[in-house]
Amino acid sequence: MNPKQRRELEDALEALPKRERDRLFDEARRQRSDAQKRRRTKARETVDGERVGGKSRPDPLIDWVLRLLAEERKRAHTPETAHHDTPQTLTEGLVVALTRRWAEILPDASSDPDAPSPAPPVPVGCRLSADLAARQQSDIAVGDRAVFTPDTDGDPEVVRVLPRRTALSRPDPRDPRTERVVAANIDAVVIVVSVVSPPLHPRLIDRYLVAIEHGGAHPIIAVNKADLLSPEDLARELTKLDPYRAAGIPVAVCRANPQTGKKDVTALRTLLADTTCALVGHSGVGKSSLANALHPALGLEVGELREQDQRGRHTTTASSMHRIPAQDGQSGFRVIDTPGVRYFGLADITPDELRWMFPEFVDLLWQCKFTDCTHDHEPDCAVKAAVQGGRIPAVRHQTYLRLLEELRTGKPPGEITERIRPPRE
Ligand code: GDP
Ligand code: ZN
Repeated sequence: MNPKQRRELEDALEALPKRERDRLFDEARRQRSDAQKRRRTKARETVDGERVGGKSRPDPLIDWVLRLLAEERKRAHTPETAHHDTPQTLTEGLVVALTRRWAEILPDASSDPDAPSPAPPVPVGCRLSADLAARQQSDIAVGDRAVFTPDTDGDPEVVRVLPRRTALSRPDPRDPRTERVVAANIDAVVIVVSVVSPPLHPRLIDRYLVAIEHGGAHPIIAVNKADLLSPEDLARELTKLDPYRAAGIPVAVCRANPQTGKKDVTALRTLLADTTCALVGHSGVGKSSLANALHPALGLEVGELREQDQRGRHTTTASSMHRIPAQDGQSGFRVIDTPGVRYFGLADITPDELRWMFPEFVDLLWQCKFTDCTHDHEPDCAVKAAVQGGRIPAVRHQTYLRLLEELRTGKPPGEITERIRPPRE
């Protein structure tokens, strides 16, 4: 947020009744503590097993409060809230599929994936108001929790979308200053890469990582097509990912070859147990094949087939959530399939916010001489020291500096975004 927006929000906060203010602070405290816990868990797996983090570092609660307030105010401006006072009984549930005008919502009673239910839970088709439909790509996404009216007269209608825990979003190609949310409330985002065809380019991973950190989910790297290399070549390629492992990001090596049926997705399945996740990555790396290997019943179209569809009939605008049941003693999870994801960018991230998106830097920030250290030109910088000492891979610091430079030069995000496109386009 810019300084003007910030001042406005601070004023609005001051004008609130005390009870409302307390509620915001409580909620912000909870969100911040969740985020810190996530970072600490990551940090603990980091740096040669050495335990870092756990110390306080500047992450002012007020920032969380203002962000929360901004989000709630944005929602309050949607006319749907006019329904607030209607004496209908409203139902809360989970958005499991979305098209331009409709949301499929699994009512709460049936949304527990592990509840033994004799009849399969049935999602309710709910109309989106014209207003919500117009802003569909930012205000409602698969994974959101939403409230809808009963179908007493006419179709049920979505009246409210509840605040999100996390989001996966990308800039709108036509207006890079607005974000399109492609999935909400995800715990993990799987960045799928392949060892060959297309070859492994770690620099693309960095782009995804920044976008993922921005939305608050935690990243996992899935390296697919392991069957195409000899064990020696595979081991050599995998060293490219050492910096990410060192940063505490889990790496799962997979095979999901739909032709030969050579499949191994056990490591990935273990990492995904009990989460809601989304698979992102270049076209052709095998996201659909992986999803099918995780759960054959999904039957997602792979490769050629799907490409024909995309060119011809535009069948892939809808997003949906799939439940992957427990299997071989491993817990189930949910996958949000987002075929609309073409590329990720830095959205409207400020250079200051970028500092928080490299988790292994964040845990050292409190050791830097300046609390607002950008780990660039400042003296006594703990991050630069860690790079020199080999505890943080130099390549991660270089990526950070490059992104920082791009953000500082103030180019619109659409331009700094390296578009991740199918190789054939
Ligand atoms: P997506 O665009 O990321 O969803 O990729 P697809 O799932 O459509 O797969 C792209 C191509 O890679 C298809 O021709 C698949 O048959 C192939 N493929 C996917 N996974 C594997 C794998 O683990 N090994 C091999 N050899 N080929 C794979
Ligand atoms: Zn520093």
